[in-house]
Amino acid sequence: MKDLKECLFYEKLEENNVKCNLCPRHCIIAEGKRGNCKARENQKGKLYSLVYAKPCAIAIDPIEKKPFYQFMPGNSAYSIGTAGCNLHCQFCQNWTTSQARPEDITSMTLTPKQLVEEAEFHGCRAIAYTYNEPIIFYEYVLDCAKLAKKKGIKNIIVCNGFINQEPLKEWCKYIDAANIDLKAFTDKFYKQITGAWIKPVLESIKTLKKQGVWLEITNLIIPTLNDKPAEIKKMCKWIKENIGTTTPLHFTAFYPCYKILDIPPTPKDTLLKAKSIADKEGLKYVYVGNVPAEKESNTYCPKCGKLLIRRGWFNITQNNLRKGKCNCGYKADGIWE
Ligand code: SF4
Repeated sequence: MKDLKECLFYEKLEENNVKCNLCPRHCIIAEGKRGNCKARENQKGKLYSLVYAKPCAIAIDPIEKKPFYQFMPGNSAYSIGTAGCNLHCQFCQNWTTSQARPEDITSMTLTPKQLVEEAEFHGCRAIAYTYNEPIIFYEYVLDCAKLAKKKGIKNIIVCNGFINQEPLKEWCKYIDAANIDLKAFTDKFYKQITGAWIKPVLESIKTLKKQGVWLEITNLIIPTLNDKPAEIKKMCKWIKENIGTTTPLHFTAFYPCYKILDIPPTPKDTLLKAKSIADKEGLKYVYVGNVPAEKESNTYCPKCGKLLIRRGWFNITQNNLRKGKCNCGYKADGIWE
């Protein structure tokens, strides 16, 4: 307990129970027990984070890999993740860490100060909180982000959006960009496949946009589970009506993983059809990912149609933007410098 970080956003109840108010599960946790995410534990009536400053995954990734296509393209992000998650997606690609208890995997100690120094040392202009679910290491993200901001390093989260509004708004003061994984557009999928529910995720998307955080959305399409054109159309309409047409949307391919091993990978054609639906709905920046794609992973000017950024997987092979503008004068949506 001596080295553990006390959690934010929880309340003490009778008989040494506590209630965690970080995410919509609002776990009530008895003494000696943990919340649903396995990363927050009640010790003698206080809630502690078991993963503060304890990353188990560290890498320097292209920012495009997160994916962020319209946020500081061509830069590297110092990327970290820990154990635990508040969702339990049956198709999780990082399930060995996201579904693990902190003590079951190897982690290292990296204080916020050390993390920011490491990012600086490696010339990374951003720190990405990613791999498992940054909500689970909320306090660590917050402390790192405060320090990084002071040093001019950007903070980006790759997040499931299943968080309560108050902690999210606190994050928004320090987070520069968020990629929210909108896993489907039905509560049925969320309940059956992820163990969560959709409403708080949609609320988070609206809040991030309102608070001025640069936002991109990823929708991983799984054949038969969330690939119906009507569902995709409904999702695109919701995006258009609630956060506008300039938020980048990434349709990405599923590959069999964790508990879903009997469904084949998403055909590229399914992703192209989804893109075509989104384009028709008027979304301006729609991408296809996790499959070889040429023009579907490039950025084009919404006004004149000219190529702005050409990508080859996670590399920028051509950047025609000048101070964030197309030759035609259109100011492309994004954070470019
Ligand atoms: S963050 Fe963890 S402990 Fe807190 S409510 Fe969510 S699942 Fe429960």
